[in-house]
Amino acid sequence: MSPLKNVPVKKIGVIERYQEFLSVSNETPIISLNEGNTPLILSEALPKELRLSNIRIYFKFEGLNPTGSFKDRGMTMAVSKALEEGATSVMCASTGNTSASAAAFASRCGMKCYVLIPEGKIAKGKLLQAFRYGAKVIIVKGNFDVALELVKKITSTHPIKIVNSVNPYRIEGQMTAAFEICDDLGDAPDHHVIPVGNAGNITAYWRGYKKYKEAGRSERLPRMLGFQAAGAAPIVLNRVVEQPETIATAIRIGNPASWKGALEARDESGGLIDSVTDSEITWAYRFLAEREGIFAEPASAAAVAGFVKWARKGYFEEGSSVVCTLTGSGLKDPEFALSFEDSMEAVEPRIDAVLRAVQA
Ligand SMILES: *Cc1c(COP(=O)(O)O)cnc(C)c1O
Repeated sequence: MSPLKNVPVKKIGVIERYQEFLSVSNETPIISLNEGNTPLILSEALPKELRLSNIRIYFKFEGLNPTGSFKDRGMTMAVSKALEEGATSVMCASTGNTSASAAAFASRCGMKCYVLIPEGKIAKGKLLQAFRYGAKVIIVKGNFDVALELVKKITSTHPIKIVNSVNPYRIEGQMTAAFEICDDLGDAPDHHVIPVGNAGNITAYWRGYKKYKEAGRSERLPRMLGFQAAGAAPIVLNRVVEQPETIATAIRIGNPASWKGALEARDESGGLIDSVTDSEITWAYRFLAEREGIFAEPASAAAVAGFVKWARKGYFEEGSSVVCTLTGSGLKDPEFALSFEDSMEAVEPRIDAVLRAVQA
């Protein structure tokens, strides 16, 4: 047996890759799980389905991050900076993915992690991640907005770092997704389509695109198209939604923390923020998995549903390029995934029985 040579492992986390654009120094301890560097997948089926032969649609599949969502990009920054500043614990409110990510990065550097989760309506996969990464999970009788208010108050009077997207390092880290897209395509796309919940991500992408252009690393800026679920569409309605409702639990938010950032992204880019219904989201969710081979969570499908809605209105000009962020993995929400009419009945172990099932 020959011993392994001591080859240095290539570091590919987003902080190492884009350090010059981030608030880190050589003294910042980098807590990374090699997040980022997610694939940009060219859509095969959607242009055919919509008869848009001359439009290129790419999926930025963030479900392939270490904890299964884009939240890892911001969390590597937030936890690294918290550690640099001497924190020993972090806290967040979460519809699920933020807590999964915070718990993972905290576990990696021996910090305590407290997560406040709204009772009910949280995808099982996300909840079990928070538990297994060793976070202290506190379930709150109230929705996400209520939980976030509690976290803000507690962390302002106790020595615990808040790692919700009101922590500016979260948004900073999330800009790296826009950088990667420009690096992969050679420039920014014409349009960027994205789901909107707390609105941190649309804010981050827009800042990222602007920063990259200012630095001369890209030449264009995309139009930002954000989509909320119809039952949780405060930005579209221009008012707080007290009881947000949607199957897309990751965007079930009635009072987005980065509301202003979302309006800025929309207005500066000449884009739009609109809503899509749960049945449009469900259609897109199934289309992605059944026709593109991409299993993304319902909130991610909201972006695709929004693209479809506006494509049918003829919004996208011939020859244009569109990037659609698929924010999280479909495995996060097994209960929604199994809410369709799949047959799970066992058949007799005989060829005729199996063939009958094949033809059913
Ligand atoms: C957090 C999240 C969103 C919403 O992102 P915001 O930054 O809150 O707008 C969408 N999809 C998934 C899967 C998420 O985890």
